[in-house]
Amino acid sequence: MENCIFCKIIDQEIPSYKIYEDEKVYAFLDISQATKGHTLVVPKQHVTDIFEYDDTLAADVFARIPKIARAIEKAFPEMDGLNILNNNKELAYQSVFHSHIHLVPRYSKNDDFSIHFGNHTDQQTPEEMQAIADKIKEQVK
Ligand code: AMP
Ligand code: ZN
Repeated sequence: MENCIFCKIIDQEIPSYKIYEDEKVYAFLDISQATKGHTLVVPKQHVTDIFEYDDTLAADVFARIPKIARAIEKAFPEMDGLNILNNNKELAYQSVFHSHIHLVPRYSKNDDFSIHFGNHTDQQTPEEMQAIADKIKEQVK
């Protein structure tokens, strides 16, 4: 897609620190290394976000994640964890609108990366929880 920075990276129009490429995906270092080895895996097909994946594209992309994760782990055996993150739409911190999966190796609790879910276990009644689940369930096709 025109004017998409990740399409340009895939097409070698702009440089990247490539890690892996095949007919379906392209993986490269995030230019802003949240931690050493922070990698982005992108489908070669331009899709904006997770809502545009079909089953085949999802299978193609997500099937490649474990081997790239293992490669990062082998390259940096001192790492002690890996966060896999996929931001969708601006409110959820997406800033590049060609879907991508972040692989963020973790080395210590003090590295420059955190996720905070908070503890909200007592905010809904069981009935409210069931209503939320039912509402989503009936939309799963
Ligand atoms: P997100 O905020 O989830 O959309 O992530 C987009 C990521 O793309 C950010 O972490 C950026 O640092 C990264 N990024 C933007 N431009 C480039 C680039 N030219 N090469 C590598 N990574 C990039
Ligand atoms: Zn694109």
